[in-house]
Amino acid sequence: MIRLLALLATTLSLTLPVGLTTELLSRYAPHSLAVTALSDLRNHYPQRQQVARVLANDSQIAPSRINDWESQARQSLSESLPVELPYSEQWLLSKPETQVITFDVTLTKGRILEMFNQRQPSAIGGIVIEIFELVGERHRIVASANSVDTQLRWPITRTGRYHIRAQSIPDSIGAFALSLDERFAFEFPVATDSPNSVKSLFGVARDGGKRKHHGIDIFAKRHTPIVAATDGYISRVATSPRGGLHIWQRGSDDYGNPIGSLYYAHLEDTNVTAGTWVDRGTQIGTVGNSGNAISTPPHLHFGFYQRSIGPLDPLPFTGSARHTPIALSNGHRWPAWVSVDRELVNVRKGPSTDHAIETTISRGELVSLQAASNDWLRIRTGNGTIGFLAESLAHPPAIKSTPLPDSEQVQISPSPSSPVLIELAPGTVVEQLGRFGNARLVETDTGLQGWIIDSVKPASDEPAS
Ligand SMILES: [Zn+2]
Repeated sequence: MIRLLALLATTLSLTLPVGLTTELLSRYAPHSLAVTALSDLRNHYPQRQQVARVLANDSQIAPSRINDWESQARQSLSESLPVELPYSEQWLLSKPETQVITFDVTLTKGRILEMFNQRQPSAIGGIVIEIFELVGERHRIVASANSVDTQLRWPITRTGRYHIRAQSIPDSIGAFALSLDERFAFEFPVATDSPNSVKSLFGVARDGGKRKHHGIDIFAKRHTPIVAATDGYISRVATSPRGGLHIWQRGSDDYGNPIGSLYYAHLEDTNVTAGTWVDRGTQIGTVGNSGNAISTPPHLHFGFYQRSIGPLDPLPFTGSARHTPIALSNGHRWPAWVSVDRELVNVRKGPSTDHAIETTISRGELVSLQAASNDWLRIRTGNGTIGFLAESLAHPPAIKSTPLPDSEQVQISPSPSSPVLIELAPGTVVEQLGRFGNARLVETDTGLQGWIIDSVKPASDEPAS
């Protein structure tokens, strides 16, 4: 009987998702609309509602689970975790519960919030990501994505605080990597890794004060690749006495809207022709010193013009150096529950010792492992606190064999409403792995793991140590 129940529990959690996930994947991956911007919300359901509709139509998913999924999402907004960008973490989804986290970030107008979600090949399901603008105490949704190997780029329209909520679709299983980054609106147009290649700024005097510098100069070795700062059509490739070999591009934002003209000058050579479309980041030429830069070291003169305004300073759009992409941490393997082997260990508000202490955990206490960010683990304690634990301080639960004084029910999860796996008679010897809130994780001699939920205070149930 024990074996059968254990087998049933395993089978349930592994087989239920398949139909659902296939359905979700066929609808959303990967050619689907990756981002729903505010302007599109009138025409499209936000991704959460799309997922909820698919779940509602799946006869194997109980309606109460969809309600739980939605209420967990609402609850998460009030438990946000401040993080600094760039930030990345890896999720390992294995438990029947879905996982949800809300990041609290400050974003700058004119820049782009860039998010990647990568799913390991063996994983199934996905993560719904939503961006909320904080208007006083209210959350206003501004973008959302159902992320299955997607990249979400969202132009930041207002400087201020935002909440970014990520929630796994019910029954998702496996490893997912998530990254958040704030980027400048333009790709830095020269492929140089020098941190100070911008040497001549917008507005400085030229020709003895007769005119002003209508761009920025980015210095790099001759033949360094020049890349398109935005998407858009190449409108002109030509040579002139001042600009030398130069390119004009009609820039477009991520939604294809025109944003102005981009001017790349003093090139050594080009590899595009007028009338062709280029994606941002595509090489369009190389750095030289043609035109009136013939007596100056090679550099790109980069200009940005808008029809109604004229020349604009490109620096707030490019930043002063090339963006370093963040690495998605990958390849970790952890158990769902971890503990510590010291009397008291600090749990911090963020993934470094610079962050304040959020709470402490003690030996014998289990925490639910939710994600890893570099050398830090994002965990949830038995009383619901979310924080970060240094990976070096995490240990597998210590095992202690104890005979049960009374008969006990073993449940599938530490939640009192979870299904009962087995009832154990008084005197049954079980291995106790630790305590999570008022529940104890135990393992029977047949290898069945489950939770005994204590109705009294947990401290009085623990043997003195
Ligand atoms: Zn210049």
